[in-house]
Amino acid sequence: MKPAPCSQKRTGRSGEKMPLPESENVVFLNGELRPESQAGISIRDRGYLFGDAVFDATRTFGGRPFKLREHIQRLYNSLRYLRIDPGMDAEEMEQWSLAVVKHNHPLLPPNQDLWVSQRISRGIEPTLPGEEMRPTVLIETHAIPFARRASLYQTGLRIVTPSVPRVPPRFVSPRAKTHNYLNLILGELEAQGTDPAAWAVLLDEAGNLTEGRGANIFLIKDGVLATPRGQMVLEGITRSIVIELAEGLGLPVAERDLDLFDAYTADEAFLTSTSLCICPISSVNGSKVNGGQVPGPLTRRLMAAFSDLAGMDYVGQYLAHLPG
Ligand code: PMP
Repeated sequence: MKPAPCSQKRTGRSGEKMPLPESENVVFLNGELRPESQAGISIRDRGYLFGDAVFDATRTFGGRPFKLREHIQRLYNSLRYLRIDPGMDAEEMEQWSLAVVKHNHPLLPPNQDLWVSQRISRGIEPTLPGEEMRPTVLIETHAIPFARRASLYQTGLRIVTPSVPRVPPRFVSPRAKTHNYLNLILGELEAQGTDPAAWAVLLDEAGNLTEGRGANIFLIKDGVLATPRGQMVLEGITRSIVIELAEGLGLPVAERDLDLFDAYTADEAFLTSTSLCICPISSVNGSKVNGGQVPGPLTRRLMAAFSDLAGMDYVGQYLAHLPG
């Protein structure tokens, strides 16, 4: 089933028509578009009970989803890792995602954009013989908190590396984007316990940098851009874009182990994520990067190249939300 224009009524699994509101967000849930306020997931869903689910999230720029196909490809890899069949192909997932954005983006105030997330759980454990497990498929949007984050582009991010190590890849691969973020959340709680404004980046068991709850880390030293190896982190879509942009700017890139010596002696550093894009780091565990001045010169070039690619001055969009 392919999406119909959003103004139409849609038929759900139950067969009844669900009118779509003009002034309320919609979500796609299990085969149909519904008003967000009428979307519910069972208390017996394994995504809720056990974190037995995967997700992905892209963002819009001026209402246009960015790298949606790449995010959906990563989603399907996460699904394969957890052996969940979503019951639809990537093309259909993309079309429904576009339909949800088409309805929801015009409802935002000016100069706002959305996260667009697909969330698929294994579904509800059957209780009766003959019952089948069916995945729960949700596509939803959420406004990016520009105002809350805007000042980060002026001050830079303060990174703290907590004592909680990142789960090793042989336990649960960080390359899959699953609904189980407790390891990253524990690290964040510890980091924010010492500095409430800090962003956590967890170390692995050997003391190498890995990633934060929603972001990859890059360091620049002597004109070389370096980031932790793909096997140890979620291979961020923004991370891949930055590697390509750097190569385009003639900046050498290394994917390698990076420890706190590398972090404390870096010339520049930044985090990447779908919503932050590239956001400069001003300190790691209180040790200043580039004297605390952000962004450094090469980071600035990469940020400008990212804005060109996105077709929008993303830093300007954040800064426009600073209190007047
Ligand atoms: N690492 C983790 C654990 C994440 O959740 C995210 C956000 N998806 C990232 C890195 C950054 O990935 P992306 O650039 O695709 O948003």
